[in-house]
Amino acid sequence: MSNRAESLIVNGERVAASDGGTFEVFDPSSGDRLAIVAKATKADVDRAVQAAHAALESKTWGGAAPAERGRIMNRIAQALRDQAEDLATLESRDNGKPLRQARTDVQVAARYFEFFAGIADKIMGHTIPLGPGFLDFTVREPIGVSAQIVPWNYPIQIGARGVAPALAAGCAVVLKPSSEAPMTALRLGEIALACGLPPGVLNVVPGTGSEAGVALASHPDINQLTFTGSVDVGIAVAKMAAENVVPVVMELGGKSPNIVFADADLDLATAGVSTAIFQNAGQTCSAGSRLLVERKAHAALVERLAARAKSMRVGPGVSDPDMGPIISKRQLETIEGYVKIGAGEGATIAAGGQRPTDASLGRGYYFQPTLLDGVSAGMRVAQEEIFGPVLAIIAFDDIEEAIAIANRSQYGLVSGVWTRDINKAMAVSSRIKAGQVYINTYGAGGGVELPFGGYKKSGYGREKGLESLASYTQVKNVCIKFG
Ligand code: NAD
Repeated sequence: MSNRAESLIVNGERVAASDGGTFEVFDPSSGDRLAIVAKATKADVDRAVQAAHAALESKTWGGAAPAERGRIMNRIAQALRDQAEDLATLESRDNGKPLRQARTDVQVAARYFEFFAGIADKIMGHTIPLGPGFLDFTVREPIGVSAQIVPWNYPIQIGARGVAPALAAGCAVVLKPSSEAPMTALRLGEIALACGLPPGVLNVVPGTGSEAGVALASHPDINQLTFTGSVDVGIAVAKMAAENVVPVVMELGGKSPNIVFADADLDLATAGVSTAIFQNAGQTCSAGSRLLVERKAHAALVERLAARAKSMRVGPGVSDPDMGPIISKRQLETIEGYVKIGAGEGATIAAGGQRPTDASLGRGYYFQPTLLDGVSAGMRVAQEEIFGPVLAIIAFDDIEEAIAIANRSQYGLVSGVWTRDINKAMAVSSRIKAGQVYINTYGAGGGVELPFGGYKKSGYGREKGLESLASYTQVKNVCIKFG
């Protein structure tokens, strides 16, 4: 590790923070320092916002043909693929996730650029029939400067998820990664420049939420804000943006249910339910963190899940284990606290429940894959987002009860239904309050093409897929009278 601080990216230049400030980034697999990074100040954020505006006014971006935007984005997609192994290793060290999950994240990031590159020259308006003597049409214009504040759990995926549609729409972006895991967002900024993205179109300003995050969210000159993170911070950010009448996309937390009926293929469900909670050590907004299982299948499914959880290898991300560490000591303690709360509420631990005892894991922040059985719908461990590898298991007797439990949540991000009965699956999917429903699967690759976002406190607005363009464009209506 070098002692040189990683720079911010502002107006196409790699620069130190205006006050020379830095922060340390730690490898959660070992607790060792991974990097020193420039800590963006309010002044840096302001320069980044002004650079983004200048880029929008420039011939090279604001004045560029949409197809040219697409060409640059395709180059970024290719460069991400060319550098996939380096990027995946960096992501794995920074966040702790197993190497193969980090590799997937990089491929998904590349796919975002590829998908939206193809759309850059197909963002169309309508003509509206007003009758003789009128021509009325709409134009979808770029909304302007998009401020994007992202979390630490999928830095390159979530970075690309917001940046790519914004660039396709012709916006310029100021991206603030989390101070817990900022490395690949900076690398994305460098790659974009190397691929010919003009200066100021993508600025990357890592720093704290309280300084860089607040400065960006409350900046009077941003035109749109995409926030991905926790509910409490999201509410604070939305209030700041509201002061300037800036529209926001809120991608917040979840407590997503996986509903398994007794007629399901239990082997398939075991694999799906297990991956849905243990991927990225449960630190996934869309984690299937509640298992609702029909009582008739309860014992058989829990037995399978427990066997699987106990066989999982936990270790440093770069050793490509089944599950890596938790992002930080603080988050590890939060997870431990929740397991204690669950036990106190009457849940039983069917697997895991503590830190691994393997001495070779040293000072890393590890926790065992954990199953909390005998949970009831109102318990805190069934209601609150734990953001760790802890599955709350709730038994139900019929479809009505399953739907009621699934919807008894302040969240509504993703849901899964496992059954061989298509009528049952469709009944659940139409009544569940969640932005996505998966039937006999949970997720579909990166889901780049599928609109993603929350009901209730999981947020509003949609990212991914064509739907996301609505956030980065605004409609202008032009009405012409002639004749
Ligand atoms: P967080 O809310 O603590 O932080 C998210 C980002 O906001 C970080 O960049 C942080 O620096 C910044 N921030 C913190 N305080 C701020 C403030 N006062 N003003 C402006 N910015 C501020 O979330 P986290 O711990 O990084 O991530 C975990 C949370 O994110 C979980 O709740 C998870 O469900 C959610 N999440 C949601 C999605 C989604 O797409 N719905 C995806 C991933 C994570």
